[in-house]
Amino acid sequence: MENLLTVDGLTFEPYITNDQIQEQVRRVASEIRTDLKGRAPLFICVLNGAFMFAADLFREIGINDSKITFVRYSSYEGTGSTGSVKVLMGLNEDIEGRDVVIVEDIVDTGLTASMMVTDLRKRNPRSIRFATLLHKPESSRTGFKPDYVAFDIPSKFIIGYGLDLDGKARNLKDIYVIKES
Ligand code: IMP
Ligand code: MG
Repeated sequence: MENLLTVDGLTFEPYITNDQIQEQVRRVASEIRTDLKGRAPLFICVLNGAFMFAADLFREIGINDSKITFVRYSSYEGTGSTGSVKVLMGLNEDIEGRDVVIVEDIVDTGLTASMMVTDLRKRNPRSIRFATLLHKPESSRTGFKPDYVAFDIPSKFIIGYGLDLDGKARNLKDIYVIKES
């Protein structure tokens, strides 16, 4: 039978394997490498969820002059968006005139993403690009469109490879989806 998983009383089933993730990480990395040829971008990893994707993507892109920094936002409680975005740790770097690439785990309502982009634009970077591991287009409340997407998925709750249920299950190498009963 399938490898079901229980976290906090909810059942999850396998959804995207680590091999499939790495394949898409290589594709997105090569798109970013091409688009930012000759530049020294600053990657901004959105904690906590994007830490694993950012680590794999940053290594795979392999631009030696590039840098990475971290910000932290929070909008989810349990398996749903609270509708308001909290900035838990903002950006310290001066990004004026720089090419920045935001790295997120997932764009759901798009609230976090559009808030970040609006905020960063005020700091006059040369360019802003947005890379996300996962995108739930049907959940959009903002019309926000990421520049780079590893996987478009339906609006179901998922965990693993950095994504959590109240802080748990980030360690999983593969991605799991909630099982509808
Ligand atoms: P948004 O602001 O609604 O787009 O939500 C973005 C944030 O919500 C992401 O960075 C995640 O931290 C969290 N999130 C959205 N969907 C999921 C999910 O299916 N599993 C785990 N976290 C999620
Ligand atoms: Mg996140």
